[in-house]
Amino acid sequence: MIALYPGSFDPITNGHVDIINRACKKFDKVIVAVLNNKNKKTLFSIDERLEILNTLFEDCDKIITDSFDGLLIDYAEKMQADVILRGLRAVTDFEYEMQMSMFNKALMPEIETIFMVTGNDYSFLSSSLVKEIASFNGDVSSFVPKVVVDKFKEKY
Ligand code: ADP
Repeated sequence: MIALYPGSFDPITNGHVDIINRACKKFDKVIVAVLNNKNKKTLFSIDERLEILNTLFEDCDKIITDSFDGLLIDYAEKMQADVILRGLRAVTDFEYEMQMSMFNKALMPEIETIFMVTGNDYSFLSSSLVKEIASFNGDVSSFVPKVVVDKFKEKY
């Protein structure tokens, strides 16, 4: 089974990495795909975010890193993904995620969205909070992989 894990990953956090590692134990392939959303202002460019993913997962042949734009279901079809994988942190994620999954199901009934509940240590963690802390020179090394800490140092 091929799982497609889409997101902004601006930047990837330890919460995302936890989901990806756990997914690797359950699926034959995990496609980690950066959404190239031109309407969303991001700190890291698509190339930077992909470079981070490639560095992190280069040793795992189950993981494919990629970027995409347009409709998620079109990309899922192109990549022959069996499921869309999303992470759930708290009830606050639930409404939006449920809406998205229903919408995707309406557009493409064959595709299932599967949710994985975030690890206990990461339920408070979000890319946007990490960015805010890093922008004030705070220590984010326990929230993101080392490669991301280094990238922050280049930015700020
Ligand atoms: P998006 O902009 O699509 O929400 P994100 O990069 O923020 O993308 O997140 C991608 C996926 O990872 C989403 O399913 C999101 O709920 C999940 N996620 C975000 N932060 C965490 C975390 N700390 N632990 C587990 N899953 C997370």
